[in-house]
Amino acid sequence: MLEATPVHEARPRAAFDIECVSLVHLYHLPDSDVVALRGVDLDIAAGELVALLGPSGTGKSTLLRIIAGLLKPSAGKVLVGGRDVARMSAAELRRYRAVDVGIILQDPLANLLPYATVLENLEFAAEGARALESAPALSERDLIALLGLEAYADRPVATLSGGEQQLSALAAGAAAGGRLLLVDEPTSQLDPHERDRVSAALHDLHAGSGATVVMVTHDPELAASVPRTVTIRDGRVGEEGRHGTQYAVVGRDGTIQLPPDVLELVPPDTLLRIVRHADRIELEIPDAGGPSDGQGEVR
Ligand code: ADP
Ligand code: MG
Repeated sequence: MLEATPVHEARPRAAFDIECVSLVHLYHLPDSDVVALRGVDLDIAAGELVALLGPSGTGKSTLLRIIAGLLKPSAGKVLVGGRDVARMSAAELRRYRAVDVGIILQDPLANLLPYATVLENLEFAAEGARALESAPALSERDLIALLGLEAYADRPVATLSGGEQQLSALAAGAAAGGRLLLVDEPTSQLDPHERDRVSAALHDLHAGSGATVVMVTHDPELAASVPRTVTIRDGRVGEEGRHGTQYAVVGRDGTIQLPPDVLELVPPDTLLRIVRHADRIELEIPDAGGPSDGQGEVR
């Protein structure tokens, strides 16, 4: 049934880091253009587990697709493991998509052959990698054990529950041995019990594969379980969360995206005076009433 991975093929494959530099993406429609990304600067270290958060329509899926090499950005660049994805040749891009990066789309069945079993789906992904002389870090059997899929490994994925399909899609995404896994809203269509299983599986997969994992999620519990969150707002990086604390990010061009609750206090076009002290920076709103109302401090 399962063939052992030839040991001589297996060599450690380092996870990829990601560097997005001023990424811009426009979708061209007949009457107008939609600006999906308007200057994303984002660095992710090799082996990190990062959650992308943010309202619908802010460009999160677009960003994943660009990193995955499925979409060419309109401007800016994305370096994955030091290579500029937009400048890869067709052959490099094919290999990159087949064995270096795994993207797990939001609908789990979009990632799987529905009438093949879980195991066959994993074998299919791994065979593709081996055909390109790339050794998956985890064998199909390793992945089935890691994600607890034994009970239904021989069932066609179309007959499984949504959560089981999502777990299978994650395993299939990892089966090619990707050094970067991009996961789009893995728990969005699941009940709480299945959500917990998939969240745990994401952590297990991250720890077990050593890959860099970037996932988009609206799930507050899943977001709270990862060390780093990046909020995408209006096509740019808004805040970053580190272990639950939110930080504004100064972009490469010096701009700061203010969170919505702060924007209510200082709406667009507000003039702010930046007052530098030895130990802190103060933002002063000259037009505001009393001195204490009109001041915010940034340390
Ligand atoms: P998110 O994943 O954060 O919900 P998306 O990246 O899917 O956001 O979409 C960002 C913006 O781009 C939205 O305004 C969306 O309507 C638009 N968009 C996404 N895909 C396409 C497409 N294929 N053609 C035209 N517009 C698109
Ligand atoms: Mg999306």
